[in-house]
Amino acid sequence: MTNLLFDALTATAPERLWIETADGRRLTYGDLYALTARFAGVLAEAGVSPGDRVASNVEKSPEALALYLAVVRAGGIYLPLNTAYTAAELAYFLGDAEPAVFVTDPARADEATALTAAAGRSCAVETLGADGRSGSLLQRAEGRPDAFATVSCGPDDLAAILYTSGTTGRSKGAMLSHRNLLSNARLLKEFWRFTADDVLLHALPIYHTHGLFVASNIVALAGGSMIFLPRFEAGAVLDALPRATAMMGVPTFYTRLVREPRFNRQTTAHLRLMISGSAPLLAQTHAEVEALTGHRVLERYGMTETNMNTSNPYEGARVAGTVGPPLPGVDLRITDPETGAVLPTGAIGMIEVRGENVFRGYWRQPDKTAAEFRADGFFITGDLGVVGDNGYVTIVGRGKDLIITGGFNVYPKEVEEEIDALPGVIESAVIGLPHPDFGEGVTAVVAVEPGADLSEKGVLTALATRLAAFKRPKRVLLVESLPRNAMGKVQKAQLRHQHAGLYAG
Ligand code: AMP
Repeated sequence: MTNLLFDALTATAPERLWIETADGRRLTYGDLYALTARFAGVLAEAGVSPGDRVASNVEKSPEALALYLAVVRAGGIYLPLNTAYTAAELAYFLGDAEPAVFVTDPARADEATALTAAAGRSCAVETLGADGRSGSLLQRAEGRPDAFATVSCGPDDLAAILYTSGTTGRSKGAMLSHRNLLSNARLLKEFWRFTADDVLLHALPIYHTHGLFVASNIVALAGGSMIFLPRFEAGAVLDALPRATAMMGVPTFYTRLVREPRFNRQTTAHLRLMISGSAPLLAQTHAEVEALTGHRVLERYGMTETNMNTSNPYEGARVAGTVGPPLPGVDLRITDPETGAVLPTGAIGMIEVRGENVFRGYWRQPDKTAAEFRADGFFITGDLGVVGDNGYVTIVGRGKDLIITGGFNVYPKEVEEEIDALPGVIESAVIGLPHPDFGEGVTAVVAVEPGADLSEKGVLTALATRLAAFKRPKRVLLVESLPRNAMGKVQKAQLRHQHAGLYAG
């Protein structure tokens, strides 16, 4: 039997190291293969048939990652859930995805039982702790045979459903096929030169596409290993860095690391590659990392629905503030957000992509799927961007973050870059808030360095010579830090909500 994704990701010699954990556990590819057999056996016994969903809401561990591959091996569809979700949020996902098995943390077993009972359909609850010992799944798996008849799966079969972060409305389940995931992993492994000699420092969560697919799939395909840290913590990352050849992170990793005296040429001497993605990396951070370590961060761009779309080159110019050219095999174009007409090089518009990497649609939402694909197969990403003469893509922001003030379009990034360049500014978020005269009023929320001599008036004066009047903020709100989610994305929706009444009355 062939199972496209599972076979490709578990082809490494059994004695090779797969994961080393922060508490010193070492699991080989042989361990991974055996774990997937035992977990798949438990799942099949619990009633998982090909095409069934298996939801996982557990803390990061090698076993939690093995569960993903076990579900794929059993012909199921893996559904990872953010461990920060509340019971009410979980109820929505369980109701929408109707999994056959729900794996949860041992501490949340009662909640999971109540949730599945309330959902009113049969769903087995299993538990899995992060220590490699606790939970019913491991107990049931113990003593089971290390063999399992892998279920045959082809390119268009679904391997996973990942719910999008859902900043507007309910989050949607992006359906990802074996082909979507494997084609992207193969491409990136070559593009970023991953081999069996690589040791990836992995401090990302594994419920999100970045840590789950970009990082883990590429390493498994290459037969390399990972140092698995439960979360990003600068001290632990710096302890592990000297042994790593590569690191993948969200921008927050880098903004935190540059404040650490130990983040220098010596600790990063063994490293061949630092990658950033999931949110924009400030050009300033890019420069700081290079000054401290001599490494130029490689920034790439992707999303849950599409896997990775663009990347700065491995060899050649890694240009700060850009996400590089489209990856080989990815068609990318810029269109007019209103009409869908293709725009010329240099024009800002909607980024659309097409390729084997692009998902199969939203789970049980044919209307939403239809609305976000063009007739010729391009997916409308919702990101605004521009392609330069050199073919490099620059992201200007999410389409929904575009500000329309008095009939003029204002791209937040342009204003943010001017503000970020001012002394004493850490970073900024520019948002549109309801305004009685202008429709939306350009508003800057600015994170200020402690003790910096900065005022609202000072920022506005500095911008007066830099930006046309309609682009200048009507108000500047000084704060200590910007709200971010676990993937380092600034929560603009939260800021808009929090300050909605600023111009009222
Ligand atoms: P997610 O589906 O959670 O991975 O979020 C995808 C979104 O993150 C994209 O649509 C972009 O808006 C944003 N994103 C990802 N990578 C980058 C990047 N390198 N620069 C700017 N935005 C990014």
